[in-house]
Amino acid sequence: MTREERIREIEKEIRSCRKCSLFRTRNNPVVGEGNLKAKIVFIGEAPGFNEDREGKPFCGAAGKILNELLESIDLKREEVYITNLLKCRPPQNRDPLPEEIKVCSSYLLRQLEIISPKVICPLGRYSMKFVFDKYGLSDRLEPISKIHGKIFEIKSLFGDLSVIPLYHPAVATYHPTMKEVLRSDFEVLKRFL
Ligand code: URA
Repeated sequence: MTREERIREIEKEIRSCRKCSLFRTRNNPVVGEGNLKAKIVFIGEAPGFNEDREGKPFCGAAGKILNELLESIDLKREEVYITNLLKCRPPQNRDPLPEEIKVCSSYLLRQLEIISPKVICPLGRYSMKFVFDKYGLSDRLEPISKIHGKIFEIKSLFGDLSVIPLYHPAVATYHPTMKEVLRSDFEVLKRFL
């Protein structure tokens, strides 16, 4: 099977997924989008209002900021892959529950294996904790304020990999000064292009 076919397979499974209760309240699951041969994969938290309506990741206010950040390092959205830890929107955008992460994250892990990126950028603390736990970095986990923009080298099933935790772009919608912090963290990504 090609990468495309394997991702389509996951998409089909997600569309009929009943592993947690979020399928009852969501309109559209958000599988992810972008280049299936991307070097860099961004992992957000979960779809929000706009994403749930459109079925696409980061297409609202946080997405606008993410687009700007990508542009600031001359990266196009089509060159990277963007997905989320949870594929369905939690009601009122509440935080993901541990049980939801537990049952949903197998989709993300399969996506990562198919794409086999060189760099994984978790956006925000939920995806950061998940990625650190999954890839043997639990003992290096610190608050995101301490480790954002830092490079963590790991070995994965699909080869050597860098994990670079980043603040969630939505922080810049509440605290505009955070955009500069995000922008300088994105500069770190340039060396992998
Ligand atoms: N926030 C996220 O974490 N993911 C999205 O897709 C949109 C907003």
